[in-house]
Formats: sequence, structure tokens, C-alpha cells
Amino acid sequence: MKAFAFDSRRLLMGRLERGDDLVEALTRFCAQHGVQAGCLSGLGALEQAELGYYDQAEGRYRTRALRGGLEIASLLGNVSLKRGAPFVHAHLVLADGQQACFGGHAMPGCRVFACEFAVWAVEGEVLERRPDAATGLDLW
Ligand code: ZN
Repeated sequence: MKAFAFDSRRLLMGRLERGDDLVEALTRFCAQHGVQAGCLSGLGALEQAELGYYDQAEGRYRTRALRGGLEIASLLGNVSLKRGAPFVHAHLVLADGQQACFGGHAMPGCRVFACEFAVWAVEGEVLERRPDAATGLDLW
């Protein structure tokens, strides 16, 4: 186990614009506000989504495209550094018109319809992603 200690710094809240790429826009927001570590959450809706599933045997993400209006039932994630720049890791639970839910890693291509979000920025240790040989992922 690894553990990191932080002091709560500030709570930022915002709204993404229709047509934004979800992860790209959140990453840009963090860079603009100097967030190098933190937690995030959000609600809203997507016009389309790309959800990832990390295939542990193959060591790569498999993606699934979802089209049509989708409710963001849950957006949870964190912010850390990767190659010295803010990196947003976000997971989604999305609901379709029948309230059937789909979940996974938010990949590029999640197009926002509306999204209200919060970022809890913290200060303390440097939280930097690096390749992890045991998983094939970039982890803290
Ligand atoms: Zn993930």
C-alpha cells in the first residue's frame, strides 16, 4: 500500500459547456486553476460516451461507444500529475432512457450535454503517475 497526506486547499465548482470533451475540459480546468492534486465529482448528461474497461489479461483498455442522451448518474475521479501536467482520472455511471446503467473509465470522446462539477483541490505531497509494472497502468 502507498499512502499520501494532503491538506484541503479549496473547493472549485464549475459547469462544462455543451459539446466539450469531458476529460479534456476537466483537465483544462485543472491546469487553468493550478490544481495538481484533488478529487472531483459531477452530474449532468452526455450526448455520447466512450467508456473504457481495463482488460487485466491483455493489459489494455477496451472501449465501448454509447450514443444518444445519457444521464451522468455519477462522475467520480481524481487529479494528479502525469509527466508534470494535471491528469484527470474519471469514472462514469451513465443511465439511458430506461434508466439502464453503464459504467466505466471515461475515455476521450465523452461529449458533454451539460455537466456541473466540483474539484476539491489539495496541497501536500506530489502525486505523480508513473508506469506500474505489476498492472501495466500509470499509477501513483
Ligand atoms: Zn479508470
